[in-house]
Amino acid sequence: MPAAAIPENEQQRLDALNELGILYTPLEDRFDRITRTLCRMFYMPIAYVSLIDKETQWIKSIQGLDLIDSPRNTSICAHTLLVDECIICEDLTQDERFKDNPFVTSGLKVRFYAGFALKSRGQNIGTLCMVDDKPREFSKEDVATMRDLTSWAQTEINLTQLSEVQIQLITELDQAQREAKIDGLSGLWNQGAIKEVLKRAHHRHLITQKPYSLMMVDIDNFKAINDTHGHPFGDQIITAIAEDLRKTLRPTDAVGRYGGDEFLIILENCPYQRAQELSQRILAHNQGLTFISKGEKVTCTISIGIASTDHIEIDSPESLLEYADQSLYQAKESGRNCAKG
Ligand code: GH3
Ligand code: MG
Repeated sequence: MPAAAIPENEQQRLDALNELGILYTPLEDRFDRITRTLCRMFYMPIAYVSLIDKETQWIKSIQGLDLIDSPRNTSICAHTLLVDECIICEDLTQDERFKDNPFVTSGLKVRFYAGFALKSRGQNIGTLCMVDDKPREFSKEDVATMRDLTSWAQTEINLTQLSEVQIQLITELDQAQREAKIDGLSGLWNQGAIKEVLKRAHHRHLITQKPYSLMMVDIDNFKAINDTHGHPFGDQIITAIAEDLRKTLRPTDAVGRYGGDEFLIILENCPYQRAQELSQRILAHNQGLTFISKGEKVTCTISIGIASTDHIEIDSPESLLEYADQSLYQAKESGRNCAKG
């Protein structure tokens, strides 16, 4: 199985990719929207956005499969970097480049692949692609549709939407350090990273004097859900709530998994009033989530504690965090499924 050749302009390509500050960052709904659209439009089981780093293919968004990264030397997408626009392979077993590829010979046994190059500063940095475990035909109209969707993905990639403090945090770190800051289950910042974002957001607030808010979100009676339906089911709920929080918030808001069933949200440039409105939106969204366990419909509520710099006197980010925690306690005491602050 030939690994894809390294492009001649590899260094410029890596520079363009690194400059975006997008590699090894938390999952973002704006990319999930695109991969979901691909699956729906083409009735495709798997669609993803991959970014090709020096030795790793890293997945920014994926539908239909649980994959965060894989080695570059077995990546099908790494071949797409070498072509002008796209590789469409209706049956991978018939292509010399791919017939021995481990994704084709084992596991998924992928048969169909359509990958379109994503560019930044004129360099191919990754792909938007779809795969199927059956051979398929791909028409001229399908290619035209994929071109439009690739252009959408391209726009998202070039729009840096994380807040400045999150970008600072990302650009200071190498790959291993970045990966160590992401929570494996939820794809959000982990506790250490979100605390770091908080410190920086506070520093920024001192400079700009713009208010910022925190939300401490905790799943209600989660222990009972685990006890009744099992830990893997509990994990599904954590993942779904994390995804829902990402969907409800602005891309510039930072969300982290703060504890087992607890999330911390940092809302920069967000006064108390706005944080309260947002908390109602989050609660309403969450009430719409239902889960199925052994044929039984299960719902799961959350409680929210709010703290804002324009609402209380604080002398440190820790004291804002403490207030958010106390507010959360009040929400729990008030019967749960509500926000206090
Ligand atoms: P409350 O409404 O007061 O928050 O009640 P609770 O039961 O949610 O509170 P508690 O903090 O006692 O329980 C949190 C539970 O979260 C306990 C622990 O077993 C569970 N938990 C922690 N991490 C994970 C995880 O990664 N996966 C799963 N499935 N459960 C977890
Ligand atoms: Mg809880």
